[in-house]
Amino acid sequence: MARDAPLAAEARWAELLYERSRAALAGGASPFVALLVREGALVAEAANEVRQRCDPTAHAELLAIRRACAALATRDLTGATLLTSCEPCLMCLGAALAARLARICYGLPLARLAELLPSFRPAGAGERPPDVARSMEMARLRRPDFEPLFVAWTRGREVRDPASTGGIEQ
Ligand SMILES: [Zn+2]
Repeated sequence: MARDAPLAAEARWAELLYERSRAALAGGASPFVALLVREGALVAEAANEVRQRCDPTAHAELLAIRRACAALATRDLTGATLLTSCEPCLMCLGAALAARLARICYGLPLARLAELLPSFRPAGAGERPPDVARSMEMARLRRPDFEPLFVAWTRGREVRDPASTGGIEQ
């Protein structure tokens, strides 16, 4: 179901997403970033804030959806596209369904992240609720290539935090 290339209109958002992810990594954070686009405009963006907030639900995708809803004073994001540097977890897919997003474009597949970081145990990695296939389009962003950002991050993390075996803060 996933398509290999983003729509032309989404290519520039993919570039912005990459820049935001790269900047987050350069700032010492993880490269998990999400953008919420609707009707050709950027409505919201967010980075992973799990550690800062001590909140395991503070994934970039979920925060971007919350901010977009707040900015537009709606709980219905019909027609909107979520662009995210890594394939969303089940929690974020559930939030995307609740918000009625039309489309999700993601960079790194979760399965690849699990290979880069063997301690990573995402809930339902690689699984998608049946509702996702019925009501939302999922497309992988091939360009830019987000994998090098995650490679750099997982290597840095292993160096900085060698004792950590407790998973990852997506
Ligand atoms: Zn998530």
